[in-house]
Amino acid sequence: MISLYVFDMDGTLIDSGEDIADCVNATLSHFGYFNVPTQELISFTGDGARALIIRALKSSTRGKFDETTESGKRKTEEILAWYLSYYGEHPVTKTKTYAGIPELLKVLSKKGKKCALLTNKPEHVARKILDIFGIAGYFSAVVCPESGFRKPDPRALEMTVRKINESCGTKFGKENTVMIGDSAVDIKCGKSFGCMTIACRDGLGKREELLAEKPDFVFAVASEVEKFIDLLSSENGATEIQKSAMENNVPIMQDEGSDFICDFIRKTGAREILEIGSAIGYSAIKFARTAPETRVTTIEIDDERFESARKNIDAAGLSGRIEIIHADALEYEIGDRKFDVIFIDAAKAQYERFFEKYKANLSEGGAIISDNLEFHGMVEDPSLTRNHSTLQLVKKIRRYVEFLKANEEFTTEFISLGDGISISRRRKISL
Ligand code: SAH
Ligand code: MG
Repeated sequence: MISLYVFDMDGTLIDSGEDIADCVNATLSHFGYFNVPTQELISFTGDGARALIIRALKSSTRGKFDETTESGKRKTEEILAWYLSYYGEHPVTKTKTYAGIPELLKVLSKKGKKCALLTNKPEHVARKILDIFGIAGYFSAVVCPESGFRKPDPRALEMTVRKINESCGTKFGKENTVMIGDSAVDIKCGKSFGCMTIACRDGLGKREELLAEKPDFVFAVASEVEKFIDLLSSENGATEIQKSAMENNVPIMQDEGSDFICDFIRKTGAREILEIGSAIGYSAIKFARTAPETRVTTIEIDDERFESARKNIDAAGLSGRIEIIHADALEYEIGDRKFDVIFIDAAKAQYERFFEKYKANLSEGGAIISDNLEFHGMVEDPSLTRNHSTLQLVKKIRRYVEFLKANEEFTTEFISLGDGISISRRRKISL
């Protein structure tokens, strides 16, 4: 079971590419060299500051800079020292943590997991950045090249695990560790150490090189790990469906949230459940198992997910009690069937439309439940993301929350479980 999460910094925890590039260009200017385009400089990162500076100098001089001669060596050291001190003073101008990172760290610590930082960044800069973002307290160990090892050397990870064990009194080994990073060096390091690896495909690292290392799991960004903490924690309790969801990065519900809904179904004696957004059938199967009388109708728009869901439902022996419909829930005509629980877990931007369309199908005393209303903490604190489309989505979720709060027909309870759940019930009409 995974108890130790080792994070790379640049491209994994923080989106630092532009600041690094700006500081390298300031350095190049200072020494009278031509600037290099930002994207090119970003592609030079990942192997530490010296490699970055040498690559930048070579690019700026169209290959003429030679770091192997005596004077080249001296020049490299001088320029590197200037860069390090300049970057150390300007580490966070445009840099942001990626969406959901502070939230992920909070959840990991709440669940008793340990976190470490393993970066090829100079230690003084790495620590300063952790401080600036107020996340230093989450890391029980910070390992940088000053330790004598740098990724992909597996001894860098060995040392990280040893440091954690010393400071936390744990006895973690490679079987308890996951290495999370956006560059080939991170995955190489994890693989040669022998632990689980997770690649972040939308970081700064070169994607083909990253994927060529065959990480165990590939996510867009590190915060997606949050969905799978419970799964990674289970000794061997992860179901095949959960594993396949993690491999294909299908956003199935967190256990906290789905357990809560199962409890709700049991307590209220709900019989007929309608789910909007089946994905691969994980939550539908879980709901159907709450009681032998429970029946689930679930709608999925995506072809592949619909097929997987159907197979998973068949394999679970539940095709008699789960009806899966392959359709766009916004267009599907469900008629006047009544449901005791309507669970909305599909496209977040459309929640209000789902709500309006299906409220007529709610049985008397029934409840409409919606998931992901906190959206990794971003609904409360939109400054957690800089990504435009994420921000638009967060705004729409906020609007849905406002819609629920202001609704005259329904009263809504908001529950801070999993990724944030709401339960809306029809108000009693006083005659
Ligand atoms: N309830 C699932 C997870 C659902 S993920 C579980 O916890 O196991 C959300 C799903 O909604 C995705 O698979 C997506 O394809 C689907 N979806 C998005 N928009 C939809 C729509 N308009 N109609 C039906 N399904 C939709
Ligand atoms: Mg990185």
